[in-house]
Amino acid sequence: MKACGFYYDAIIDNYMRILVTGGAGFIGSNLIRLLLTKKNESVVNLDKLTYAGNSESLSDLADHPEYSFEQVDLCDAGALDAVFRKHQPHAVMHLAAESHVDRSIDGPSEFIQSNIIGTFNLLQTALAYWRSLPEGGTPAESSGMNKHITDYPPTKNSFRLLHVSTDEVYGSLLPEADGFSETTRYDPHSPYSASKAASDHLVRAWGDTYGLPILITNCSNNYGPFQFPEKLIPVVILKCLNGAPIPVYGKGENIRDWLYVNDHAEALYTVLTTGQKGETYNIGGNNEQTNLDLVRNLCQLMDELAPIPQTTRNSLTNSSNDQSLAITQAPLQSYQDLITFVKDRPGHDLRYAIDATKIHNELGWSPKEDLNSGFRKTVQWYLENTDWWQRILNGEYKLERLGQTYTNC
Ligand code: NAD
Repeated sequence: MKACGFYYDAIIDNYMRILVTGGAGFIGSNLIRLLLTKKNESVVNLDKLTYAGNSESLSDLADHPEYSFEQVDLCDAGALDAVFRKHQPHAVMHLAAESHVDRSIDGPSEFIQSNIIGTFNLLQTALAYWRSLPEGGTPAESSGMNKHITDYPPTKNSFRLLHVSTDEVYGSLLPEADGFSETTRYDPHSPYSASKAASDHLVRAWGDTYGLPILITNCSNNYGPFQFPEKLIPVVILKCLNGAPIPVYGKGENIRDWLYVNDHAEALYTVLTTGQKGETYNIGGNNEQTNLDLVRNLCQLMDELAPIPQTTRNSLTNSSNDQSLAITQAPLQSYQDLITFVKDRPGHDLRYAIDATKIHNELGWSPKEDLNSGFRKTVQWYLENTDWWQRILNGEYKLERLGQTYTNC
């Protein structure tokens, strides 16, 4: 029997068909795995399959009877409309976005298209669909029924659209300041965070103006399995395995609050099923760390779980005159010896931290993993799933540095 959601208290079968946008990405694929295997929901994955979308992340679930995939660009309003008509979702979880800050510095246009125009298209399509639904009873009136998803068509009262956003919309914190709360003023600094801020405002406006039943979450940095190897944690792991310099931006003093991706997925499901419509919930791991400490901790874990082979030690020591490597003449003792300080990211926010009191007090969510357990699981996953990331590195992306364009801003 399913756990209690806001629709029904006692359900023995699937009761929601959830349209997940961006489900082939890092968080989306982990979320879909949770929805299908732990929450017994039905899922439609809508994804454009950009460089960051990877259908292999869900290959073991591709034939799941409750899973379907639609390759659609959010910027194609006609195709979006067709997906809503075909699948008649009970809810939407909107994760599709361009998500890498460094890429947004090199090419902001994609971010404006997917994150702002794409979200606008989704809102317009969802609004027309929601208006076409029958009123239906309130969730409380419907409780206690045992129904299969096919007996329980979506209604205006039960439909929800959850927009998944980032803590980066709030800007940068001083080291001693309180964490971002749901009422913190927006102050985005990168093209990525500005485009996400714009999408948050659109979603809120469609709720306030048209009554679309929306929810918004703003989450801190995620890590875990299936993260594209351009983001910090997989970069560190894969640079270690390649015996290559590990780039740390500036002095490595920037602080982020890290959350294991499965904890984020659980939080999103909690907000969708029990959150108050129209509300925003901040999600964080209460795990602040400077980038330098994080890299050092990961290197220590790598020393334990994948010790440097003797042959690699020798070859790195021998190549010490190669200026592309930050290796001294001393023999390589630890992966920490690969740490290399590089020019800082333009507009690099000093600190992000989340105050997750609201979701904890009102919805009872808190993270299960701390940095020790989460990092260990993540490193183990990358060590055991070399095929997944090797295929990516065999393509266009080769762990190179992105986003170095400097402006006068
Ligand atoms: P990701 O880059 O790994 O995945 C994004 C997915 O969206 C990809 O599968 C891509 O193909 C798809 N996509 C992009 N543009 C699209 C379009 N126009 N139409 C359809 N699909 C499109 O991103 P992620 O790290 O999984 O992040 C997912 C969401 O969570 C994003 O909205 C991001 O802003 C937010 N978020 C991420 C983090 C984090 O640390 N990764 C933290 C907080 C919030």
